[in-house]
Amino acid sequence: THFGFRDVPVAEKQKLVGEVFSSVAGKYDLMNDLMSLGIHRVWKRYFVGTCQVKRGDRVLDLAGGTGDIALLLRDRVGATGSIVLGDINGEMLKVGRDRMTDRGVVAGIEFVECNAEKLPFPDASFDLVTIAFGLRNVTDKDAALREMQRVLKVGGQARVLEFSEVKADWFKPIYDFHSFNILPKLGKLFANDADSYQYLAESIRKHPPQDELKAMMEAAGFARCSYRNLSAGIVAIHTGYKA
Ligand code: SAM
Repeated sequence: THFGFRDVPVAEKQKLVGEVFSSVAGKYDLMNDLMSLGIHRVWKRYFVGTCQVKRGDRVLDLAGGTGDIALLLRDRVGATGSIVLGDINGEMLKVGRDRMTDRGVVAGIEFVECNAEKLPFPDASFDLVTIAFGLRNVTDKDAALREMQRVLKVGGQARVLEFSEVKADWFKPIYDFHSFNILPKLGKLFANDADSYQYLAESIRKHPPQDELKAMMEAAGFARCSYRNLSAGIVAIHTGYKA
């Protein structure tokens, strides 16, 4: 079966996205390393290393999945800080929690099954809200951005790490070949699931490019919005503040 994501209604899309992540949860970490040749670790490290956050802060990592960002954030907020890892998918959260339990680092991290479009947290309850490789999977991105803004404290920072538009012309054909040929084959070979990885490639193409996402953040109420491209725009980090 091929996911015809372009034309499906909203509720259907949400269900399909759910199936994709339930289906890849167990292989998720391995696949990230294979697909990006390990570079996603560098992006994530840079993303967390440049966040506005200090010891003792309370942080929300949305679409946190198996917890890569939460683990990095943990070093930055220290033992006095707290991290909430929110994700819509129980399977991804379970893989994340098991992995952290194995490493003995579960303390200070709270796992909450929730939809980024409708957060179960009060206004102004976090110093920092992050979402990494998650926003493109959210059906109503504007709603998610508004919710991120709502739960932030005044002066707090929101940060989005996401695939974006490649800016180097020479690289585009290589990138397309990787996305639409290599990636589904890797999916088939290692996760026996070409469809999910085909979906991932399509979702990257449909995600709003740099300036459009920046405008969406402004419309959601964020102040001082900006972005920075990493790896020629394969991914971008968007930043906004609650004024
Ligand atoms: N942030 C992690 C990382 O960088 O490795 C996981 C990213 S993974 C590609 C995307 C995650 O978004 C999945 O775990 C999926 O369950 C979650 N997700 C999709 N739609 C969501 C929504 N509406 N609200 C919250 N999480 C969502």
